[in-house]
Amino acid sequence: MPDRRGFINITSKIEELVQRSGVTEGLCLVNAMHITASVFINDNESGLHHDYEAWLEKLAPHAPTTAYRHNRTGEDNADAHLKRQIMGREVVVAITKGKLDFGPWEQIFYGEFDGRRRKRVLVKIIGE
Ligand code: ZN
Repeated sequence: MPDRRGFINITSKIEELVQRSGVTEGLCLVNAMHITASVFINDNESGLHHDYEAWLEKLAPHAPTTAYRHNRTGEDNADAHLKRQIMGREVVVAITKGKLDFGPWEQIFYGEFDGRRRKRVLVKIIGE
């Protein structure tokens, strides 16, 4: 993730892993392995992603970084911790007949709030 913040659609990657697992009935857990990143499900719509960005920045503005007690540790990412909290840590999706069982328009996203570093997502698939 080259920028501090962004959203990446990871649906096709997760679908590929489900297919490779051979599981046809089960559950798929996807979680962000970082305390300043989220995994969430919503619509793949660029207007909505802009709205998230504006809404999160209103709730927890990045600047002034001195407004946050957490940043007294020498970090500048208190806002990213708060943004992560509201966007969630993980999602669990049912696997039905070998496919992720989504509602209409649902897609899986990785949300980054303190990027510019390598980040990881854990995917755990269970079932038969
Ligand atoms: Zn921090």
